Amino acid sequence: MTVLSTFTLQTRSRNEWSNITAQVQRIVASSGVNEGICVVFTPHTTAAITINENADPDVPGDMLIALNAVSPDRADFRHAEGNSAAHAKTSLVGPSITIIVSGGALLLGTWQGVWFTEFDGPRARSVHVRVLGE
Ligand code: ZN
Repeated sequence: MTVLSTFTLQTRSRNEWSNITAQVQRIVASSGVNEGICVVFTPHTTAAITINENADPDVPGDMLIALNAVSPDRADFRHAEGNSAAHAKTSLVGPSITIIVSGGALLLGTWQGVWFTEFDGPRARSVHVRVLGE
């Protein structure tokens, strides 16, 4: 069995992490898949998907500090759109994640959440979720 579902979100800041765990879990629950995998993919070049801590709200902020340190804005970037730092952060984080589905639910750790990471907002964004299994 395989199900594809897409949802959208509107980001509100230039850099922003949105916890999308509940949306992804709802798609898995309604897919009818009990045992399989779930792929979460975002079709953008300045936004990404990751898994990280969902408990302390300071963690996403600290991740942005770390990513800004690795990929600050630079005067020697040549890309005319002026958002090369956002493109670099997107490649560092990556466009997709794969999560094991077991017992009809995401097999996440206690402290793990699924995050949509915006690096060039505010924008309207899409997230595709593929659930595959039986
Ligand atoms: Zn660009």
